[in-house]
Amino acid sequence: MRKDNFELRTECEVLKVNLDSSGRQATGVTYVDAQGQEWEQPAQLVILCAFALHNVRLLLLSEIGQPYDPDTQTGTVGKNYAYQIVSAVDVFFDDVLTNTFIGAGSLGMGIDEFNGDNFDHTGLGFIGGGYIALWTTNGRPIETHPTPEGTPKWGSKWKRAVVENYLKQCAISTHGAVMSHRGNYLDLDPSYRDVHGQPLMRLTFDYTDNEHRMSDYLTDRAADIGRAMKPREIKVSRREGHYSTVPYQTTHNTGGAIMGADPKSSVVNRYLQSWDVPNLFVMGACAFPQNPGYNPTGTVGALTYWAADAIRNQYLKRPGPLVQA
Ligand SMILES: Cc1cc2nc3c(=O)[nH]c(=O)nc-3n(C[C@H](O)[C@H](O)[C@H](O)COP(=O)(O)OP(=O)(O)OC[C@H]3O[C@@H](n4cnc5c(N)ncnc54)[C@H](O)[C@@H]3O)c2cc1C
Repeated sequence: MRKDNFELRTECEVLKVNLDSSGRQATGVTYVDAQGQEWEQPAQLVILCAFALHNVRLLLLSEIGQPYDPDTQTGTVGKNYAYQIVSAVDVFFDDVLTNTFIGAGSLGMGIDEFNGDNFDHTGLGFIGGGYIALWTTNGRPIETHPTPEGTPKWGSKWKRAVVENYLKQCAISTHGAVMSHRGNYLDLDPSYRDVHGQPLMRLTFDYTDNEHRMSDYLTDRAADIGRAMKPREIKVSRREGHYSTVPYQTTHNTGGAIMGADPKSSVVNRYLQSWDVPNLFVMGACAFPQNPGYNPTGTVGALTYWAADAIRNQYLKRPGPLVQA
């Protein structure tokens, strides 16, 4: 931003990446400004960094790459969408003051013993794992009013339970990996459109048996930890049934424009450069082929530095594909 030739245009929405007649070179983007006026911004190099989901939607709207078709298993754009599976164990004490309102978000403890291949999976019936963590995130009162099992959801008994437990409780959460599955994907919605008349993105997703078995196992380990704290009681909240967008779980969406070694099965190469349009780079968690048992943003940042370095030290010196297909 300190450079003279830098300009930030706020309140602008990019509608698509423009391509030349060959379809293999980006010529810029079309965007709408805050007054609703449409502009074409020419560019020699385009970097999509509009969040994992919007990156995929912009690729689809711009007709870059082949959209994934779950029936024929062909195409790459929208493929490998994945999410996380979470659960929690609330731990209630009679006389231990946990004072979670004092905590800061970064205070906490996480264990990795049940992540990935860090434990023996023999006989467990699932692959993968996740992390188990206990955080104190300020006990925000609108969000944080844990009550023991059997407490009514409203009324004076609920209020009494909130008062009795607010200062004497902590929560152990589990964040599990989600493997990509051929039936989970992103595409353009056939019915719904945005204010500009462009199709919205459609997300097709559900947990598989693997995720439920793995999450149940992680939740049982979290419950073991909770019981070992010698509380009055614990409350176990598992992630059961089908995926629902209604309760907040995480915002850790991954996949849809994945990184890979082969353009037949991936959207970008190892430098996040589009296989189809070499002067287009796509940065974000859409590059992850699977959702690991971790939150994504650290890896998104690392990948972005990695790709920026490749742009600066390789691409700008010799524009073109950085990896030969
Ligand atoms: C409530 C919440 C809690 C979270 N907690 C965690 C956590 O604990 N740990 C963790 O790792 N991650 C967490 N995340 C996820 C984290 O915020 C994302 O992984 C991260 O922000 C992704 O970075 P990004 O640069 O890819 O996208 P973003 O940070 O979303 O930036 C994308 C930008 O592009 C803009 N944009 C989108 N579409 C267009 C368009 N068409 N035209 C122009 N501009 C556009 C957006 O306005 C936005 O400014 C959380 C997210 C939320 C919402």
